[in-house]
Amino acid sequence: MTQAAPMSTTSSATSDTPGTMRALIKHHAGPGLQLVHDRPIPEPGPREIRIKVNKVGICGTDRHIWEWDEWAAGRIPPGIITGHEFAGVVDKVGEAVTKFSPGRRVSAEGHMTKALDYNSRTGNAHIASDTRIFGIDCDGCFAQYIVVPEENGWPIHDDISDKHAAVFDPLGNAVHTVMAANVSAKNVLISGVGIIGLMAVTVARAAGAARIYCTDVNPPRLELAKKLGAHEAFDARDEHWIKHVRAETHEGVDVLLEMSGAPAAMDQGFRALRNGGTAALLGLPARTVDFDFNAHIIFKGCTVLGINGRRMWETWYQMEKLLLSKRLELDDIITHEFPMSEYEEAFRTMMSGDGIKVLMNVDE
Ligand SMILES: [Zn+2]
Repeated sequence: MTQAAPMSTTSSATSDTPGTMRALIKHHAGPGLQLVHDRPIPEPGPREIRIKVNKVGICGTDRHIWEWDEWAAGRIPPGIITGHEFAGVVDKVGEAVTKFSPGRRVSAEGHMTKALDYNSRTGNAHIASDTRIFGIDCDGCFAQYIVVPEENGWPIHDDISDKHAAVFDPLGNAVHTVMAANVSAKNVLISGVGIIGLMAVTVARAAGAARIYCTDVNPPRLELAKKLGAHEAFDARDEHWIKHVRAETHEGVDVLLEMSGAPAAMDQGFRALRNGGTAALLGLPARTVDFDFNAHIIFKGCTVLGINGRRMWETWYQMEKLLLSKRLELDDIITHEFPMSEYEEAFRTMMSGDGIKVLMNVDE
């Protein structure tokens, strides 16, 4: 991968006041976000890179922050810049940075760790005990500039667009889940086809899954899942599909990818899973779930995988190769782009379900 020629390190903020930038912040401990124009442009520390942000993605997490639910109220420090999905260009680097120079197109892994704990040192940095996430624990990317540790930067391949690079974070969740469950030549059930579930359909297809079944309670999303490569898609409110799938797959699917977090979908998914199958769980239940461990896990002898974040950096390399293979269909999932000045409409579109993955252009 070649690096672009270094550009001037002088910042060129399009804000009203020099040295300040436009940013979408969590302005108070309550619902909504606020667009401000006077946020100071951050300076990179010795081992940090500053990135001029171009495109950002609105995540389900940002929705929780917008709505200020129990999770957000307990986790998000009011005053921070939100957002963790983006594509941009390196604008300035700290004096100890060796890998990046200004002008390089980049995205970044949102999970930051000091790389000193047990998991970081044994190849599992995605579940490090000291993980902090930008846009959640500290300033994020819904701004003209973001500063991240050099180790967190990911150079964007020349043949990958900013539109696709802006969704590396959720796409990486999908790739991580699909690859962890090893779907090649297996029958796969994906329960929940929201943003990441839909991405999992196209990833599972590209990764060589045999038959792909999907469930959800949203008929248009089920139709889209079929367009992206699901062989059959069922409305989860009618449980007849379980019998049909178990019959068609000789005793159940080999792999369950749980993307909904809905207790009923978890119960159905495990009923459709064959004995000895593998379940990879990414969806987050809103509260403690009543779950039949005996029937679903113990007597079934199945393997259950909890999926968090993206493997650093195996998932990122897999994602790049899958994108370059041109086998992923993302353009039907990324439905809208808005100027960040229209952030209210962008969030409304995402939260109402009118849009699926919604991007914003921070300079507009
Ligand atoms: Zn996200």
